[in-house]
Amino acid sequence: MTMQFDLRQLGRRGGGGDSLRDEHVEKTYQPGEFDPSIVEDEEYKVVAPVHLVMDVHKDKDAYRVTGTVRTRLQLECGRCLEAFEIPVDSPFELRYVPEVEAGAEGDEREVTEDDLTTSYYKDESIDLGELMHEQFVLALPMKPLCAEACKGLCVHCGTNLNKGTCDCAPQWTDPRLAALKSLIKTDREN
Ligand SMILES: [Zn+2]
Ligand SMILES: [Zn+2]
Repeated sequence: MTMQFDLRQLGRRGGGGDSLRDEHVEKTYQPGEFDPSIVEDEEYKVVAPVHLVMDVHKDKDAYRVTGTVRTRLQLECGRCLEAFEIPVDSPFELRYVPEVEAGAEGDEREVTEDDLTTSYYKDESIDLGELMHEQFVLALPMKPLCAEACKGLCVHCGTNLNKGTCDCAPQWTDPRLAALKSLIKTDREN
């Protein structure tokens, strides 16, 4: 299943005339429709239906696309490696310009006329899969944690310390505590 939005359909439903209208688009995609290979690279998994709502406005050969994408993503905690979910509800405002052949007009082409993020379309269509993927990546936390207070895994035995304790010796890093520890040990041995 392709996630292309055909720009040639824009305004068709308006009932003719040569003035193109804005197009309001609402789509829902199921998690299974997202290309797993793309998603794996970014280490997220789409785990809920994705609701995409957007308005497409034609402006000469460019298109202004504003909307929101809403879903839930599953990530892996950077400390305990457990899966956890984050909600995504991301507004976006993008500007699509025709994709130019690399080097065709020189690399100096300046497209940032305003603050809009510029993307490219080709074959008269916008790749919505790519659009949503970019929004997901932007929504990902720098450091994914299941909880701010996640205790992570025991470095010795790998026990998830959020779920239980292990019998590994605690880390005695303070030399005074280390001395105390050896005292306790001697005590026990006697
Ligand atoms: Zn965690
Ligand atoms: Zn342990």
